[in-house]
Amino acid sequence: MSDRTQTARSLPSRKPCLTAVLRMAGLRPTRQRVALAELLFGGPHRHVSAEQLHGEANDASVNVSLATIYNTLHQFHEAGLLREVAVDASRSYFDTDTSDHHHFYVEDEQRMIDIPASSVEFLTLPEPPKGMMVSHVDVVIRVRKAQG
Ligand SMILES: [Zn+2]
Repeated sequence: MSDRTQTARSLPSRKPCLTAVLRMAGLRPTRQRVALAELLFGGPHRHVSAEQLHGEANDASVNVSLATIYNTLHQFHEAGLLREVAVDASRSYFDTDTSDHHHFYVEDEQRMIDIPASSVEFLTLPEPPKGMMVSHVDVVIRVRKAQG
């Protein structure tokens, strides 16, 4: 049918799915959590800071305080839905991709770029302290624009 006009495809709502994801992670799907989960997981994998997510929530008319954003991000992290990548003492990014991988951190743009786990090899790792095991290894390679 060539005369059929192209209509905007309406994507099925991910809400029921996200509600289930939250439940399975042991979190009660409150309206705020579902709204923030939609912002976080509604697209491709990404890295966000609490401040960025707060800005996005404001733009989407989701009325939450920065403190609530922090709490929710940490709850999602504890529940295994997000991975936290600490860049320095004052800055963390939350990664919606919880699989093993590493990161470039672009210092002048404050942005993270994924590095596949297979591109970093370790010749030696120290033995973990007695009675402990390595849970995962995070590598953050800091980069900035090369001069001229
Ligand atoms: Zn990542």
